Amino acid sequence: MPHVVTQACCGDASCVFACPVNCIHPTPDEPDFATAEMLYVDPSTCVDCGACVSACPVGAIVPDHRLPAGQERFVDLNARHYAAAEAPSTSDAASMAARFPVDHVLRLPLAPAAPPSALRAGTSVDVGIVGSGPSAMYAADELLRHPQVSVTIYERLDRPFGLARFGVAPDHLSTRSVMRLFDEIARDARLRILLNTEIGRDITLDEVRRRHDAVIWAGGAPTDRPIEIPGTGLGGVASATSFVGWYNDHPDFADLDVDLSTDRAVVIGNGNVALDVARILVTDPGELVATTIAPRALEVLRRSEIEEVVVVGRRGPADAAFTLPELVGLADSGVPITVDEADLAPVLHPDSESPGAPGVLDDTSRAKNAVLQEIAARRTPSGRRIRLAFWESPAEFTGTGRVSSVTLRRNRIGDGPTGIEETGQHRDLPAGLVLTAVGYRGVAVPGLPFDAATGTVPHRTGRVVDGDAPVRGVYVTGWIKRGPSGFIGTNKSDSAETVAALLEDLSGR
Ligand SMILES: Cc1cc2nc3c(=O)[nH]c(=O)nc-3n(C[C@H](O)[C@H](O)[C@H](O)COP(=O)(O)OP(=O)(O)OC[C@H]3O[C@@H](n4cnc5c(N)ncnc54)[C@H](O)[C@@H]3O)c2cc1C
Ligand code: SF4
Ligand code: SF4
Repeated sequence: MPHVVTQACCGDASCVFACPVNCIHPTPDEPDFATAEMLYVDPSTCVDCGACVSACPVGAIVPDHRLPAGQERFVDLNARHYAAAEAPSTSDAASMAARFPVDHVLRLPLAPAAPPSALRAGTSVDVGIVGSGPSAMYAADELLRHPQVSVTIYERLDRPFGLARFGVAPDHLSTRSVMRLFDEIARDARLRILLNTEIGRDITLDEVRRRHDAVIWAGGAPTDRPIEIPGTGLGGVASATSFVGWYNDHPDFADLDVDLSTDRAVVIGNGNVALDVARILVTDPGELVATTIAPRALEVLRRSEIEEVVVVGRRGPADAAFTLPELVGLADSGVPITVDEADLAPVLHPDSESPGAPGVLDDTSRAKNAVLQEIAARRTPSGRRIRLAFWESPAEFTGTGRVSSVTLRRNRIGDGPTGIEETGQHRDLPAGLVLTAVGYRGVAVPGLPFDAATGTVPHRTGRVVDGDAPVRGVYVTGWIKRGPSGFIGTNKSDSAETVAALLEDLSGR
């Protein structure tokens, strides 16, 4: 009865270090860890000892005979990860590549693994951390392993833990339980958290630097990427950032005016956040009572007239930004979902007689495609539902005062910088609510260098640099360091790298 990694996995790799037989992969020092959408247990070597279960902060590993409903598919996904070490046959690969061309799949690298760090005995170190999100809490945890270190966290909001509280969907209770780990870290007597304290507004960064031996900026990437097309200023067009903040009781978005008196909502972008907002919009409010959703949002959702939420991706299914575990979770959770068979059909490259572009799908994309095929074969749900649409980009939002329609242009594989080009076809989709979910972005920090192209603070292994010169005593971690990629647990290895650099610098004083 092997153990199985399931949907809630946030990739912190704690299980990897707990496992006595090294049967959980990829490990942080393996190359695939940087792009893996989840970790997998090898069923042929797992000895069923359960050590990983107690190491996992979010209850994502379970014995295969105790899988929660809707997670059964993960047994096969874990096993297939190892079976798929065998390459697909040439004909199989060719037919998959034709059906789901992927010559332009882009996966952002996540975080590197850091070697263990040391601090000389007798040294006393006082570190300030700006932000209390996952990257800050993992950095604090890493620092507090050293008895000489004390830490002060500065957080602008009235409650700690950043997007673990204000981003993770309210119905993803296992993932949200990572906050129990952060609570435990926060109980350390050498850690204090100052809430309602914004650096740059209440205290300057210079002042924080004077107070501490070193400062780690862990302020995240708080804004969304804008969509620059006509109509973004219309009522009823909002960012997923604000909508997520609204249903998660984020103080900045508590008063957002959300009008759900429309029968269709459109979500632009198809990452995990897009799936989150779509799922919340179609879930029976009666089921949301048992979640952490903000009561005010629940009241509005109870009056919702939405019948369909269309999630629009500009490229094909093989390039969908959502991860495999999230797709599986959605497909098997009973949430009504549909996808047009036409969107899964082979797509002709404009310069090619043969369908598709060269390129063999990786295992994750193949597994995603299999799930999408299965959804397409299901009968279209009659009531409130999510529709996944591919190969379309928004051209314009139209309406008088409020949005009433979205013009979507059809794409195909092409030679443009994003791997697609317009076909010239378009359609107008009536909709009274549009949520844009095309990614997050860091903002410049007064007093620190900033790379506007990536929305990050430039650094070398976590040490902030201005050109070639290090900014003494200032470090970065999390989304403001590597960009908005990865899972909650990805920040653990990211912060370990930053803390290793910091301790190396301070031990050399
Ligand atoms: C909507 C959404 C849902 C997600 N869901 C999941 C999920 O289900 N599973 C998963 O594994 N990952 C999920 N993620 C990703 C995960 O949340 C991120 O990897 C992680 O939160 C990044 O951590 P961070 O510490 O860099 O930033 P954040 O979590 O954003 O934390 C930054 C903190 O810094 C504070 N801050 C910023 N500026 C200042 C300042 N000037 N002074 C003081 N404080 C400041 C902010 O208030 C915030 O608390 C989700 C992300 C989003 C956006
Ligand atoms: S049950 Fe034991 S052997 Fe199996 S994955 Fe977990 S720690 Fe490894
Ligand atoms: S959340 Fe961490 S400990 Fe749990 S399964 Fe995923 S990588 Fe392993």
